[in-house]
Parts: sequence; C-alpha cells; structure tokens
Amino acid sequence: MSAAETASENNTEMPKITINPQRLETLAQNLTQIRSRISSTLQTRTGSLSTSGENSPTPRLVAVSKLKPASDILALHNQPSEQLHFGENYVQELLEKSRLLPRSIRWHFIGGLQSNKCAQLAREVSNLWAVESVDSTKKADLLNKGRGEAASKHEKSQEELLRVFIQVNTSGEESKSGLPPKSSELLELVKHIQNKCSNLKLQGLMTIGAIARSQATTPENENEDFVCLRETRDWVVEQISSGSGDKLELELSMGMSEDFEGAIVQGSDEVRVGSTIFGERPPKSEAKVLEDTEAEKK
Ligand SMILES: *Cc1c(COP(=O)(O)O)cnc(C)c1O
Repeated sequence: MSAAETASENNTEMPKITINPQRLETLAQNLTQIRSRISSTLQTRTGSLSTSGENSPTPRLVAVSKLKPASDILALHNQPSEQLHFGENYVQELLEKSRLLPRSIRWHFIGGLQSNKCAQLAREVSNLWAVESVDSTKKADLLNKGRGEAASKHEKSQEELLRVFIQVNTSGEESKSGLPPKSSELLELVKHIQNKCSNLKLQGLMTIGAIARSQATTPENENEDFVCLRETRDWVVEQISSGSGDKLELELSMGMSEDFEGAIVQGSDEVRVGSTIFGERPPKSEAKVLEDTEAEKK
C-alpha cells in the first residue's frame, strides 16, 4: 500500500514526506543565491522598463520543480525559505504533487498544454495560481470551464480567478509553441480571454527564448527574445487600451537559469528558474514524486 493510500484511508492530513537535512541545506543555499542575484540585477534596471514607474517590484521567482521529488518542494516551501511559487511542466505530475503538498503553494503550469487536459488541470488543482502556456481560444475556454466547475464544487461564489499568460513564440523556432509576436491571433486571444472567460485573468505574456540567444547575451548584447516580448506587450497594451480609459497591465514572464539576469534587465516581471536551484533533472522515465520508502520499511 502506498503512503498516499494510507493517508486517505486514515483520513490523516498528508503522507509524511521526509526531508534530508543535507539536501535541504543545498537547496536553501541555491535559492538564497538566486534571490540575491535577482535583487542585485534589479538595481541595474532603469526606471523606464518597469511597468509601474520608478520603483519596480522585485520580479517573482518561480522555482521550476518539474521531475524533482515532492520533498525538494516541501524543503523550500517550509520556513525559513518559504518559497511560494513553483512551476511544473507535466499535468499528471502536477496533479500528483498538488495532492501531496500544502495548499499554500502557488502552482504555475508552464509546460506544453494539451487541450484534453485543460479542464481537469483547472478543476482539480485548486491552488493552481497561473497557467503560462496558453496559445489558443480553445484552451482558454477549457481552462475557464474547469475553473468554473471547481468554483461551484467548492461552493465558493468568489473563487479566485485563474491567471493565464499567453505564450509567444519570439524566436520563431518551429519546435516552440506560442503565437507569433504582434499578430492578429495574439490580439484575438487577448480579447477572447478578457471578454469571454469570466473565470480567467489575463496576467501577461510568456516566452521561452532560444538557447543560442541566451548564450549570446552579455551586458552589451541584449537578448532579442526578451526585447521582442517586451515590444509585443507594449504593442498589445496600445492596441487594447486605445479608446478605453483604463490601461491594460500585462506582465512579462521571461528568463530561466541561463538567462534570467538578462531578462530582468529587459523588464521581466517573473523569472522561471529550475536547474540552478534543484540541479540537473533526471530523465522523465526515472523521475519520482515520492522517493522510495523501502529503507524505512525494513
Ligand atoms: C524547464 C523550464 C524552465 C526552467 O529551466 P531551467 O533552465 O532549468 O532553469 C523554465 N521555463 C519553462 C517553460 C521550462 O519548461
């Protein structure tokens, strides 16, 4: 019998997740380093690039925990690190982790999104904070539907809106999903989410830059993907806001382990950092949400 089954049968809170103290120390140190690199980079960002004037808020750090065990996430979510935002790429893995881990975690789904998983994702992960990889009206509708069903199930009339980011393919690589920058499709999707999806909140735009471009990024050499996403955001805001009184505010989700500092300089509001915090990822076939407890049973 698995730990999860035991927990649900006994109606106890959650299965016990054991945190290795050495692992905790390593993870906490890595996280502290990333946090301080974020704040020192922020000081080099000029005022004009921030969405809200001179004092730009510190970009949100999403710790990308895909293919890493639940114990790693719990280690960083607990005090003293108290990391709130975690990012996952695979629906099944996120469903499993969200059942095991505290509801106070703010999950981000950042991976390739299949239409047939959207409603389940939005319905079952009640603490899903954002879906960052939305690229069609169909997926937006299904997420909207799922979140609506969750709200009625929990009998809360004022369930929190599900934040969504639209993924933009700034590098034009065929292997990347996302809508073309400054395209009519992008504008249509923005309007669709705003007007037709009452359970969703359009939070911003997201890109995964090309690896070659992040490697070419130096302090003098800006990353074209990040410039492109920022210009696309400004363009969308201009298109949508003209005529109406209130200005649309859209965040930029850009920057990963290799290039988050360059992204912050370019105005990123959210960086998604995985391997620099958690180390190399195992192949998907070897990833485990719960580590073996065989040793404890003996
Ligand atoms: C895996 C992943 C990340 C994190 O990548 P690292 O290079 O490990 O920091 C960020 N964003 C997305 C969309 C990802 O799939």
